[in-house]
Amino acid sequence: MRYDLHSHSTCSDGLLAPGDLVERAVRRGVDVLALTDHDETRGLQEAHEAAARWGLRLINGVEISVLWEEVTLHIVGLNIDPAHPPLAEGLAGLRTGRARRAMRMAEDLSAAGIPDALDGARRYAKNPDLVSRSHFARYLVETGHARDTNAAFRHYLTPGKPGFVPHQWALLAEALSWINGSGGIAVLAHPGRYDLGEAKCERLLNEFVALGGVAVEVVTGSHAPSEFAAWARHARRFGLLASAGSDFHGPGEGYRDIGSVPALPSGCDPVWSRF
Ligand code: AMP
Ligand code: MN
Ligand code: MN
Ligand code: MN
Repeated sequence: MRYDLHSHSTCSDGLLAPGDLVERAVRRGVDVLALTDHDETRGLQEAHEAAARWGLRLINGVEISVLWEEVTLHIVGLNIDPAHPPLAEGLAGLRTGRARRAMRMAEDLSAAGIPDALDGARRYAKNPDLVSRSHFARYLVETGHARDTNAAFRHYLTPGKPGFVPHQWALLAEALSWINGSGGIAVLAHPGRYDLGEAKCERLLNEFVALGGVAVEVVTGSHAPSEFAAWARHARRFGLLASAGSDFHGPGEGYRDIGSVPALPSGCDPVWSRF
């Protein structure tokens, strides 16, 4: 069975509609796909309809934005119930916060000589409730301020650069209680991206486990293959299951296409043993 447990649609910052994402996953050999849009679950219904047509198993997912010790973390929820009121209400609150953040980001870009970024980003956001930095990055490419979206994130939108606005996302405890309360499995997404240092990383993993976290992404488009083994070891040491996902956003964006997820290193306990 081929698993891809992290992907995005136009309901957050992906480039394909949920149905088209499912079709691409099927064509690329995926058997079990999780749609994990940022702070949003409204794509799941269309994805399920397509999955039923194509005979793919779709896992209800979400990727929740969290602020922990001044670091933005992403927690993926797998097998969630999107109708669980605390989860649905919590995600709605995060989306409201995004609207305010987007306005302030545009003001900051305007002060740096880049006007009209809010309208520009909104044109890329198919879901008006979910404006993300990716939409701003696409506008910066369109207006010639960056060669591609990776360059946009090197020169803008990140701490210390124009267009970055610190933001209060969910608390780690909230994200985990929403996921666990809905019957889901909490997965620490792309841990290698946070650049925490040893002590802080240890603290995060301990806290994550204490709050009911179950798995960690070992294989992800955000990890270099050389990092897979280290995260497999961390998973084992903390009694965490291992997850794997491309974090696909769209053709030509990011590092891995949907379904091109290498196998977990040996010795990992796969998170799908819980499905
Ligand atoms: P947001 O949730 O609005 O802060 O946007 C975060 C999204 O921006 C991530 O999920 C990625 O899709 C994208 N992103 C963040 N950093 C980078 C980067 N360095 N290069 C490319 N995309 C990035
Ligand atoms: Mn994204
Ligand atoms: Mn992420
Ligand atoms: Mn993601």
